Amino acid sequence: MKPFDYHRADDAAAAVATAAGHPGAVFLAGGTNLVDRMKLGVTEPDLVVDISRLPLDTVTETDEGGLRIGANVRNADLAANTLVRTRYPLLARALLSGASGQLRNLATTGGNLLQRTRCVYFQNITTPCNKREPGTGCSAREGLNRNLAILGASEDCVATHPSDMAVAMSALDAVVVALGPHGERRIPLSEFHRLPGDEPQHDTVLGHGELITAVELPPVPYAVNSTYRKVRDRASFAFALVSVAAAVDLEDGPDGPVIREARLAFGGVAHKPWRAWAAEDLLRGETASEELFRRAADAELEAARPLSGNAFKVPMLRNTLTAVLRGLTGVPRGDGAGPGGPGGMDDDGEEIR
Ligand SMILES: Cc1cc2nc3c(=O)[nH]c(=O)nc-3n(C[C@H](O)[C@H](O)[C@H](O)COP(=O)(O)OP(=O)(O)OC[C@H]3O[C@@H](n4cnc5c(N)ncnc54)[C@H](O)[C@@H]3O)c2cc1C
Ligand code: SF4
Repeated sequence: MKPFDYHRADDAAAAVATAAGHPGAVFLAGGTNLVDRMKLGVTEPDLVVDISRLPLDTVTETDEGGLRIGANVRNADLAANTLVRTRYPLLARALLSGASGQLRNLATTGGNLLQRTRCVYFQNITTPCNKREPGTGCSAREGLNRNLAILGASEDCVATHPSDMAVAMSALDAVVVALGPHGERRIPLSEFHRLPGDEPQHDTVLGHGELITAVELPPVPYAVNSTYRKVRDRASFAFALVSVAAAVDLEDGPDGPVIREARLAFGGVAHKPWRAWAAEDLLRGETASEELFRRAADAELEAARPLSGNAFKVPMLRNTLTAVLRGLTGVPRGDGAGPGGPGGMDDDGEEIR
């Protein structure tokens, strides 16, 4: 590992001033992603600014009835928070589906949002990678891309964002609060992470030296009827192949439940949490049915451009979204198909087909 200087910050403004004044500075929170990258030589800072002891570790209610989550709140603590569990169950489930108990005890809210892709070429400094070293090429496009993007990718990069938490926060219209050298700004989570375009080296819109201080969740009363479902290769300790965060607002209709509003976001399929606006539009005001759910999935997946190794993600995501919406609306399976469909089991042991 390349030698570096270490500085422990006493307050947020000082942390920002120190990092902003050093082009090679990075913030250290739980260290579960940054330290791995430093060991691999993927990230080689000159200065590590330790923010882990800044008092940004509380969850408080906002005047509007939402929650303000400090950037240093640990993933385990956030998942266990009673207000999160009761008001935003999709967020608690997303957090608990990520990493392992030990990692969640260290991982922070800010660090989770800013963890970097798990594309194998990004993590292997002997291979070309536009994200790690702009202009060198993308090894994944014609290489190992089974885990990578089907939506919103570019010629230059087909990586996915690995966070589960961020997918749930995207569905909730969360807002990232960031402190920079020129003051504070608020960034909607759906605009916080970027699509790769021709600058895949930038994962987010955050500038150098900007510190996440909090994430705010607006009140979403119907999020009590919400969930997060993640499909992966192993039952735990694996990143999402595909995932769905969903919250649905229902009212009674003459032919069954009518969807007043739906919030949907996908993980494991794009360079950012993928907010499924087209599917949401199609569901709004309609009577819940399996046929409607499949049409909503198709509307969103029209833009899918699978790679050589990940075409399976298209039906897997369609089936996962359909199963999630059936669960949240109480609509029974429509076709009477037997068990053992192509999608296998999800992390709850429920069949995905
Ligand atoms: C084996 C393994 C399995 C995992 N599985 C999953 C999984 O299934 N799902 C999942 O979502 N995650 C998974 N993770 C990733 C894990 O969730 C992240 O490593 C963790 O959330 C990062 O948080 P941290 O506080 O440790 O961040 P750090 O490693 O300290 O920092 C990560 C990045 O964020 C920056 N940063 C941190 N805090 C701030 C801040 N407040 N403001 C500005 N910049 C900041 C750092 O400079 C760094 O670039 C896994 C990790 C490992 C090692
Ligand atoms: S997909 Fe992105 S991160 Fe992976 S090799 Fe290509 S440029 Fe690098």
